[in-house]
Amino acid sequence: MIDSHTHIFDKAFDGDREAVIQRAAAEGVERMILPAIDSTSHGALIECLDKYPSVCFGAIGLHPTSVNDNPAWEKELELVVSFLECHPGRWVAIGEVGLDLYWSKDFLKEQQHAFVKQIELALAKNLPLIIHTRDAWDEMIALTEPYIRDMRAVFHSFSGQEHHLSKILQYDNIYIGMGGVVTYNKSALPELLKDVPLERILLETDAPYLPPVPYRGKRNESSYLPLIAAKIAEIKGEDVNLIKKITVQNTVELFFS
Ligand SMILES: [Zn+2]
Repeated sequence: MIDSHTHIFDKAFDGDREAVIQRAAAEGVERMILPAIDSTSHGALIECLDKYPSVCFGAIGLHPTSVNDNPAWEKELELVVSFLECHPGRWVAIGEVGLDLYWSKDFLKEQQHAFVKQIELALAKNLPLIIHTRDAWDEMIALTEPYIRDMRAVFHSFSGQEHHLSKILQYDNIYIGMGGVVTYNKSALPELLKDVPLERILLETDAPYLPPVPYRGKRNESSYLPLIAAKIAEIKGEDVNLIKKITVQNTVELFFS
């Protein structure tokens, strides 16, 4: 399997990163995609890429919440551009980027500006996008409308409604990231997932956040990915090995081809 979204470079893993990678491998999770947040963690991210080159693959981008209340956000964007220029082969995607109005609605204009700039960068470099959306689905659909035909992207940890889903599923190069939330009791995702073809689903943990049942409240890690695959298998009425196989194919298609 491939964990299509983990922040294993996060401080939460400083004490046992090696063991976490080994546990993941023991559960069949051989590769991980590491989306960037901002300059405070670029160093840790790159360290993981250098130390575990056959396991960890990096995305570079500016997270929408790092735009909030940050007078240096335009400098941060320039940094993303220069990382792409200096090490073009190092990055498998632009991410994570997008819109997040959960913490504050005051920086929507700045977030939109940063996101559009990074979409244009992805199109220019022919890279896929890892898109984060929280409490901003209408704004997300409106903003991506002019670009989505040409984009290759995953809407990571999907949390929109049915009409958002049907809109983005019209486009073949768009994938839906599924993580621990799908295992939660009150989640609307199992119902929505019935309309998503297997060929459009990626597995992710978003570690250290959003652990699946029965690890809620604990640190999430990539070795829990099979629990998410099992839940999707149950929802779809398919064999879990088929889910694992197809989601790997999808992830390879988006990031490695
Ligand atoms: Zn993330």
